[in-house]
Amino acid sequence: METITRTEAQWRALLTDEQYEVLREKGTERAFSGRYDKFYEPGVYSCAGCGLDLFSSRAKFNSGTGWPSFYEPIDPAHVRLVDDFGFFMRRTEVRCARCDGHLGHVFEDGPPPTGLRYCMNSVALTFRPDPQPNGGDQAPPGHKPPEGRDG
Ligand SMILES: [Zn+2]
Repeated sequence: METITRTEAQWRALLTDEQYEVLREKGTERAFSGRYDKFYEPGVYSCAGCGLDLFSSRAKFNSGTGWPSFYEPIDPAHVRLVDDFGFFMRRTEVRCARCDGHLGHVFEDGPPPTGLRYCMNSVALTFRPDPQPNGGDQAPPGHKPPEGRDG
């Protein structure tokens, strides 16, 4: 994947203070403070730094931790996992594969089918609702949105 590199000043201009603190300085938003913690609309969560699609609402679950949690990324190639030894704990950091922004951590106590819990910061994500059907035609129950988005 082609990566995006910006200077600190460029990121500062592009991001809000909160986004900068999380994405570029590996900050963590306060538990239960994020706008996507209790948010279950159908759609796609993309990187707040560069817009890369990261998680689908279909993989979102309520972990009770106070942070939006997913059991799998929309595409494994869209996230980068990095060993994180901060705070005297060994954790696995999750970064955006395109802009290297810090998103959160992944833990091995998630639900099926993966058993993983991608614990994300709301401010690192931008939600995009699934497109609504045009012309008032309701999608039939169980309608599956078309797959195949280019990366
Ligand atoms: Zn990104």
